Amino acid sequence: MLQIKHFSLRFSLYGKGLEQRDLEVISSLDVDIKAGELVSIIGSSGSGKSLLAHAVLGILPANAHLSGELYYQGQALTKKALEKLRGREIALIPQSVTYLDPTMKVGKQVMGVRHDAADVEAVFRRYKLPASVMDKYPFELSGGMARRILVSAAVIAGAKLIIADEPTPGLSETLAKEALAHLRELADMGCGVMLITHDITLALEVSDRISIFYSGLTLETALRRDFEDGGRSLRHPYTRALWKALPQNDFSPLPGFQPYAGTVTEQCAFFPRCTMATEECLHPIPMRDLRDGKVRCIHAA
Ligand code: SF4
Repeated sequence: MLQIKHFSLRFSLYGKGLEQRDLEVISSLDVDIKAGELVSIIGSSGSGKSLLAHAVLGILPANAHLSGELYYQGQALTKKALEKLRGREIALIPQSVTYLDPTMKVGKQVMGVRHDAADVEAVFRRYKLPASVMDKYPFELSGGMARRILVSAAVIAGAKLIIADEPTPGLSETLAKEALAHLRELADMGCGVMLITHDITLALEVSDRISIFYSGLTLETALRRDFEDGGRSLRHPYTRALWKALPQNDFSPLPGFQPYAGTVTEQCAFFPRCTMATEECLHPIPMRDLRDGKVRCIHAA
């Protein structure tokens, strides 16, 4: 349904006077999502993963420059194609409920121009929202209700590809699990779902596959079951370190810090923190297929 190959993204910025420089935020990213599949993109804050969502939706600012290939159902995601697909076949469940218009009642916002009140009520019933919510403004909603409104808007649009950008921060554990259960349900109904999150524990509960994002690169794409045997099936040292750092596992943090994408040199991005590093790692490392997944590490076996 969605295929992203060798995707990179940089922004042109102005410094003093007319001095211009480029800031690279994604240097090489590969992801694919099939119908009926939920794929999580895991990365820490500032790793550029939300920009990926905006790139797929074509809502990046004018100073953004993309390269690489993006396809939806085999069709190149050009600006023109995105104008037709965005908000219809491809929908965003945004990070913040501030995406809702604060001056408009939520019923009208969810309804859009192609549906009526009966359609909205039917979707609201599915997400346990009373019909009276239609007459409320966003500020009158609880956090959980607002999340369900955002999911309702994607469902009523009839979206086939849903991009959920950090849908759980600020929610209680119960509400976060409920929000992710809704995404899982959409995948089970045949949608392709991209879940962008920093919460690996929650993502593991609902995902079919997990892509690990680091300094603007995908380092590994793993199956959910790869996390279930003590992390031994994971392919990349960083993914194994993430697994070990979870409270339910060793709870041992990984020393060092993640460099900004624009500062990564020609060597493997994980080189400074990697206990397996050798001289061969002092070169750009391509992504390769390995055991039903993908990895960007020459020593992965
Ligand atoms: S390529 Fe080398 S430095 Fe990079 S993750 Fe693999 S072993 Fe570590």
